[in-house]
This record gives sequence, C-alpha cells and structure tokens, in this order.
Amino acid sequence: MFNSTRIDQFKNIPTPFYYYNMELLENTLDLIKTEASRYGYHIHYAVKANANPKIMKLIQTYGFGADCVSGNEITRSLETGYTANKIVYAGVGKSDREILTALEAGIFCFNCESIPEIELINELAEQTNKTARIAIRINPNVNANTHHYITTGIEENKFGINRWEFESVLETLEQSKNIELIGLHFHIGSQITDLSVFKGLCLRINEIQEWFKERQILVNHINVGGGFGVDYKHPDENPIPDFVSFFGIFKEFLNLTPSQELHFELGRSVVAQCGSLISKVLYVKNGVNTKFAILDAGMTELLRPALYQAYHKIENISSNGEEEVYDVVGPICESSDCFGKAVSLPSTKRNDFIALRTAGAYGEAMASRYNLRDIADSVFSNEL
Ligand SMILES: *Cc1c(COP(=O)(O)O)cnc(C)c1O
Repeated sequence: MFNSTRIDQFKNIPTPFYYYNMELLENTLDLIKTEASRYGYHIHYAVKANANPKIMKLIQTYGFGADCVSGNEITRSLETGYTANKIVYAGVGKSDREILTALEAGIFCFNCESIPEIELINELAEQTNKTARIAIRINPNVNANTHHYITTGIEENKFGINRWEFESVLETLEQSKNIELIGLHFHIGSQITDLSVFKGLCLRINEIQEWFKERQILVNHINVGGGFGVDYKHPDENPIPDFVSFFGIFKEFLNLTPSQELHFELGRSVVAQCGSLISKVLYVKNGVNTKFAILDAGMTELLRPALYQAYHKIENISSNGEEEVYDVVGPICESSDCFGKAVSLPSTKRNDFIALRTAGAYGEAMASRYNLRDIADSVFSNEL
C-alpha cells in the first residue's frame, strides 16, 4: 500500500493525518456501480461513514444518492452535489428543525422509526404545505451476529418499528394526510461479514411483505440498508468487498414485484479500505511487562478501538527491523486509548510512521476535540 515514494511524500506532512487512496475508492465504486446496475438497484451512500467533502463528491459522481442521519448530513449532501430526490433520511431522534430541513429540500424519503415521529412529520408537513414521502423502518428481529454496539435489528434495540406495532402505524397513516407511504426500510447492523445474515433478512422481508399484501398495501420501494462488512485483518488481500456475492444474495432470495425498486445504504463497505490513519511514534517506553509504542494519534482520530474494541491492522511502514512486541497506544488521557495490545511490529523507534489501516469509515467521521486536540488533516493520493 505504501511504497517508498509515498513514504517520502509523507515526510513533508504534519502527522497525524488521514490518508485516502482515491484509486482504491474509485475501483470500489466501479465494482458497486457495475454490480448494482446489473439488477437496477439504487445505492445511497451512508454519509455518516465519512462525510469528507472530497470523498462525498467523488461518490456522488457515480450517480449514487445519500443516506443521512441528521439535518447537517442532508445539508452536506446537497452541498456536495447529491440531488434531493436521491436523499433518504433515517434516525430515531429527528428534531423539528431537522425535519423542516428535509421537507424544505424535498428529500426522496424519510425512514421513520416511531409513531410519534410520523405524527410530527405529518404536522410539520401540513404547516409547510408539503407532502412527506416516508418508508417505515421495520425492526425485522434479525440478529446481525456482529458486535452488540453495532447491532440494530433485534427487538430490544432502539431502532425501527416492531411487528406488534404495525396495526397502529397503519391507523396513524390513515389520519396523516400529509404523508405518503412509499416504502419499507430495514437496517440490521454493521460490519456483517456472514452473507447468510442477509439471506435471513431477505426471507424475513418476504414474510413482512406478505403481511402488508394481505392488507392491500403495496409499496414501490424496499430499502435493505447497509451493514456489509470489510476485512479488517487483511486489507491488502481483500481491499474490495465481494459485492458480486452481496448483491447476488438479494437477487436470489428477496421477492420483489415488477414495480418494486430495491435500495441499499452502503457506508463502511464503500470507504473503509481506502483510508489509513498515518501517525508517528513519539516515544517507545518500557513498561513492566511490555514496551509501549506511543503514537501522536489516539482515540480522538480513530475511536473504534476504544469504543467497540475494534481491530485495526497496525503497520510500521518505516522499519524493516526484527519483529518485536508492542502495546500501541495514543497520547489521550484515557486507558482505553489503545490501538492494540501485544502487536508484533518491526523494531520501532521515535519518528517511525505507523499506519492504522482500514480507517476510511468511522475514522475521520468520529474525530473529536477531546483534550482540545486539533482535528487531523486529510490527504488524498491523487493530490500528492
Ligand atoms: C449506519 C447506517 C448505514 C450504513 O451502515 P454501514 O455498516 O456503514 O454500511 C445504513 N443505514 C442506516 C440507517 C445507518 O444508520
């Protein structure tokens, strides 16, 4: 991933920074576009994975829409060239102001997560003389078999509307004159690498569609969300997720009528592998039983290890020395600010470059200013 020319270029850039391999992002987008077009599937990029304007603009040029979870993400999407009629908007806690932003823009669809939310959207749409298109976000009670913090589709989660509430939803919709039901939406979690989970989702959607069909309700849009996982362990061997198999599962197992269109909201699988967090070693410090490699990047630049014990591959791209074992940690005043324990790296010293791989999704997007740290810059391969 990083040849010596690239590493020489890094020497002029203050660390830490996010590095984006734009060729890899383009290759990933090419494959998604080819495979999705094969079946006429609609792709919405899940902005929360990485809202960097350059990344968002490139993705938009492929004709994809945006999947937003806040009013500001809607605004950012419009600013980076996404058309309102390809924007979908989910979230359990949409505020009045955010709903008004979405109504004003005339987005394609609100993915609604509760009855009180539907009532509020109806009220605000009435006040502004608009009709809001909505999909109901259904909690399909399918376990994504992923980390419990990123599981969203089982009954005890806060997300979506459960099956026993469907009747009341339909009653609410009866009375909501400024709402048009156009779809059913599902999103069961993230970093799902077991494709049989998506097969399970398809079968559950087929059952749920039967329930609606029995009540003469036919919607034209089915949205199956995102959640497709990437290979954090082997970023060089598997730089692009297997979208052929992924879309193939939906083609094979999901029953759609000829008028129904299928939508996806892909985040991590689009952008994760193109990004690395590049950092320098500040100090190598001897601990009691271990050596610490202390980096100038921490949980403020890449939160996932501290937040969900997530694994990121750690590489020393400056050294060819003998392998030694290090605890790789950041500078932040929290013990959870640790990128990896007992990591085998070539002999490491001050000022070596350390790459934290697969950081393109939920890396820069989750950056914080905790400890009053500066927000790290982003660097693009096609601008070096
Ligand atoms: C986060 C999210 C996505 C994207 O999930 P990935 O795992 O990054 O693909 C899609 N839809 C909704 C509603 C989300 O909240």
